[in-house]
Amino acid sequence: MDLTQHIHTFSHYLKARFGERVHKLSLAGDFTCPNRDGTLGRGGCSFCNVRSFGRHAAELSIAEQITREKRKTDRARRYLAYFQAYTSTYAEVETLKALYDEAARQSDVVGLCVGTRPDCVPDAALDLLADYQQRGFEIWLELGLQSAHDATLERIRRGHGLAAYRDAVARARQRGLAVCTHLIAGLPGETDSDVDATLATVLDIGVQGLKLHPLMIVRGSRMAAQFRRGEIAPPSLDAYADTASRLIRHTPASVVYHRVSATAQAPTLIEPAWCGPRWDALQAIGERLQRDGVQGSAVGAPWIAVPHA
Ligand code: SF4
Repeated sequence: MDLTQHIHTFSHYLKARFGERVHKLSLAGDFTCPNRDGTLGRGGCSFCNVRSFGRHAAELSIAEQITREKRKTDRARRYLAYFQAYTSTYAEVETLKALYDEAARQSDVVGLCVGTRPDCVPDAALDLLADYQQRGFEIWLELGLQSAHDATLERIRRGHGLAAYRDAVARARQRGLAVCTHLIAGLPGETDSDVDATLATVLDIGVQGLKLHPLMIVRGSRMAAQFRRGEIAPPSLDAYADTASRLIRHTPASVVYHRVSATAQAPTLIEPAWCGPRWDALQAIGERLQRDGVQGSAVGAPWIAVPHA
């Protein structure tokens, strides 16, 4: 299934911009996060186990990680350095600059993607990213929001509300930085309408990119204990594919989907098992978009959530 026929994918966006494939390399700076170091809390967001961040490798320098990650991927001539693990703006700006510079110095690195929390992007960090952008680098600020509902954010112990997200996006956009927002479908206590309202709010605030994830229960997270007690359950493949395809159809075609599902492997992944294979969710989402309409085809139409079994 070629998803680019139905979705404005990040790979397609990059190919259009650079004229060739560009690969994203996942890196780990030596960061922590305020929801783990005691500033806001110690246990982290309830879905998070930072060990599940792929290929965590903070013991290596950024240059060494880039070399290692390039060996693991199909050959490309250009790469984006993705600071993924923890909160990748959570340090003094001099530290951030040293880490980002190390990536930007590699001759085949054409851009940076920086994953962080909305309450951890001071003006100095945004100014630094804007400076790389002015020098011609492709820059994406990836903000974890997960839900636009403060009650949900409190329930999953995010330690910030929607207001922090609004503020971060406004300051990023003042500097012309592209924002990619991470959302989770299937969070405890949320209905289809809640997820729809989250997307509507994010689109209303303004966003250039989106990452959709299903709720995954991973070992070592607070949710793993809730799951074992029978208090929560992740979505089925059908339920997630219904939700994701509905959200994509209501998203303007100009917004770039960096990801529409997620994968993890046992023993880190507890449930849902369908998040193990890479293609199952993509196939199911693609089939629905082929049947019901492509990205953007439902913009302006009523949100009709299909009840699932
Ligand atoms: S999801 Fe991000 S902000 Fe939340 S605990 Fe994990 S690293 Fe920290």
